This record gives sequence, C-alpha cells and structure tokens, in this order.
Amino acid sequence: MAMPPHPPLTCSLPDQERILVIYTGGTIGMQQHAQGLTPGGDFATRMASALNQLPVAQQHALPAYDVISYTTLIDSSAATPLTWQQLAHDISDQLTRYAGFVIIHGTDTLSWTAASLAYQLQGLDRPVVLTGAMRPLEAEDSDALDNLQGALQFAANPALQEVAIYFAGQLLRGARAIKQHSSASNAFASPNYPLLGERIGDDFVYYPSRGLGLQQRGAPRFELADYRLANQGAVVRIILWPGICAWQLDAWLSDVRVKGALLQLWGAGNLPDDPSLLGVLARASGEGKLIAAISQCPQGGVQLGAYAAGHGLSDAGILSGDDMTPEAAFTKLIHLVAQPLSLEDQRQRFLTPLVGER
Ligand code: ASP
Repeated sequence: MAMPPHPPLTCSLPDQERILVIYTGGTIGMQQHAQGLTPGGDFATRMASALNQLPVAQQHALPAYDVISYTTLIDSSAATPLTWQQLAHDISDQLTRYAGFVIIHGTDTLSWTAASLAYQLQGLDRPVVLTGAMRPLEAEDSDALDNLQGALQFAANPALQEVAIYFAGQLLRGARAIKQHSSASNAFASPNYPLLGERIGDDFVYYPSRGLGLQQRGAPRFELADYRLANQGAVVRIILWPGICAWQLDAWLSDVRVKGALLQLWGAGNLPDDPSLLGVLARASGEGKLIAAISQCPQGGVQLGAYAAGHGLSDAGILSGDDMTPEAAFTKLIHLVAQPLSLEDQRQRFLTPLVGER
C-alpha cells in the first residue's frame, strides 16, 4: 500500500534521528480537478516548498524527514479499521528506523485513526503525531503549513511517547480528541483531558506531566491484531433518541455478526425508563456481546446508576465508558473484539485505562 520513502529532503542524518511522514490523503493535499477537490500526489515536493516559506530560523529548527505516500490516497471518510491496521503495521515496521512519525490524514476521521493507533501501539516509546488541514496546502490562508510545522516539531521531541494530534497550535492526546468544528481551523478538541502541548510564539511546548511517557515503562508492547473480521460490522454505535423502541435496539443487537456495541446515553448515563430496552441489552450482553455506554455530551462522563432509569444498566452487563470519547470507546471495542480474548478479559480490559483514554 505504501510507496518507498522519498529521498531525504533536508540533510543526511541517520534515519534514527529523522522523522517519517506518512501521507494518506485528506484535504491538506487536495487539488482542484474537474470533478472537484481530490487528493493530489507529489506531496513530498509540495510539503517541502510549503515549509520553505517559513522564516529561515524556523526552517532550521525543523527536523530532517522522509515522506512516504500511500499508493491509494483517500478522503478520510473512506477510512476503515483496515486503514487503522495498515498504519499501525507501517509504523511498527519502521519504528526503530525513525525518531518519530507524522501521519497526514483527512480531518473527518482523523481522531478515529488516532484513537485506534493508540491501542495498537501501546507502550510506544516515541512520538506519532497526526495532522491534516481544513484548507488545501496551496489554498490562500491555508492552515496546512502551521499544522505541518507543529506536527514535525512535536514528532521530533523524544519526551512525547504516545499517539497525539497536532492541530491549530494544540497538541492533543489521540485517544482523547474529537473533531468539534466542520470548518474552523481550530477543528479539534480534547473535552475531558488537558492539552499535551501547544505552540507559544515560535516555541512548541510539551507538558510532560500530562503525557504517557512518564507513566509507561518497558519496551513497546504493540498489539497488532487482525482487524479483518471486526471490519465486517462487528461493532455498532447506537446514539439514543427520544422514542427509541426495544425492537429497534434489538434489530441491531440480535444480529449474530454484531459482537460489540457502543451506546451513547443521555447526560450522566440516562435512558428511557422502559424495561423492554433493558431486557434487550441484558439479553445481548448475556449472549456474550461486549456492550459499553458513554454519554452523548462531549464533556463529562457517565456514572451508570446515577439515575433510577439508568440503574439497571450495570445489572444488564453494560460497561461504563466513563468520560471516553466516542472515537476512543468505539475503537477500543474493535480492538478488543478483534483479539482472541475471553469475554471476561475483554470486559476487564475495556474498564482498564490502556493508553490514558479514560
Ligand atoms: N473530507 C476530508 C477528509 O477527511 C476533510 C479533511 O481532510 O479535512 O479527508
């Protein structure tokens, strides 16, 4: 899927001190064609000429890097769990050759890819920074150059040892981020966890006390699970709405192909006071499906049992997703159902923070 690294663009440092940039597509690299904006090629040259526009001192502060482009460039709406798996494998294959990684990705599902990579690359001992842009690299007032610069700068900081997103001057934990705006430059937020770093003037400041680097010990313990089966619809996401009926929930959960589900409840963990809904959930959970609940509110988390109506959820075997983002909860379910784990192990691991996602 990936092409060989583009020849070194800056100086000839050994790979171990260089950054590997992996270009997957997205608006950042798009160019206008007759049929509209589509991902454009020759990203290495285009990225280099963009970075050449920086003031000289800032150019000199950039790390050396290589670029690889995926053969099929995508709008990130086309990404699937197999895309997440491919990226994790590519990073794992190149891990010891590079000091850090930058992944260029469309913004629409960037936070999903980031969360998934965090689970696959557990124990990561160097930076993996995802970025993209709201406007193409060559567009007037594009945010691409700022984002590329910051992503490279943080990818070169050995103290950062996790999967992060750099966007609009902010460094966010990958497993804590959401896309919060469809057009503003400041498109990402980390609603329940502070920033890992930020750009202050010309400095790219990392806050180590918030990072996983200090908490992780030992060698990387990547879990490169085979996502092919999970990619065939094994996990569903159900956001409750007023008037939801038990038969509707059952239509999703009784399908044997469904192995896990993410429920998005109201507020702190509320759902309609309808015993037949709980009955459907209890039956599905009793049949061995991994079912977790988070809130529909981007900020705060769930406390199952806080409301009388939600009280039966724990009894029905529903796991609390605490204050996880939908991205982090869903990709964790995919990651767990893809592995040959007992239901008890899956449940216990869902409840355990693996990469600072809860
Ligand atoms: N549709 C684009 C994508 O996600 C949006 C972007 O790149 O920002 O690939």
